[in-house]
Amino acid sequence: MTANAHDTSFIPLSGGCRCGQARFRMEAAPIITHCCHCRLCQQLSGSPFSSFAMIETGHLTLLAGKTRYVDGANTHKRLQCPDCGCALWLHRADLGDGIAFVGVGMLDQGERLPPEAHYFIRSKHPWVTLPPGVPAFEEIGDPGKAGARERIMAVLAAKGHLLDESGRGAAAT
Ligand SMILES: [Zn+2]
Ligand SMILES: [Zn+2]
Repeated sequence: MTANAHDTSFIPLSGGCRCGQARFRMEAAPIITHCCHCRLCQQLSGSPFSSFAMIETGHLTLLAGKTRYVDGANTHKRLQCPDCGCALWLHRADLGDGIAFVGVGMLDQGERLPPEAHYFIRSKHPWVTLPPGVPAFEEIGDPGKAGARERIMAVLAAKGHLLDESGRGAAAT
């Protein structure tokens, strides 16, 4: 699968850690960009919610710097800069290494990727007001973005992972 298989108009996004030694580039449009208001994301980010661009790991290129994986809570692992500790992206244990979740804040122009879904709003802080027209789910759900499920399934099939019928595991972090 190449970047051209998806959105040929996508202009690659670059990003990196705070100290600047680790740099990467997102070569294709994300599968989906979402905010997650779950307790794990709240704790990992130290914030009311996290914002991730979900993408095939093969569309991410490390450009410079050393990185290391850090395991977290048996649910995920983070690719971190060993110097400043920023995580370039993470992988979920249930989806495997073929799918990456890039923190939108790690991108130089993360504002190009507004959230297309909100997950786990059951634990959303009440002051957070969601914009109208963006799908929001109590836990996880399928926002129905064209091609998203197919892209996830293609990665999982190649890795021997399978989703259950509900698509559970495909959406939230
Ligand atoms: Zn760094
Ligand atoms: Zn979450």
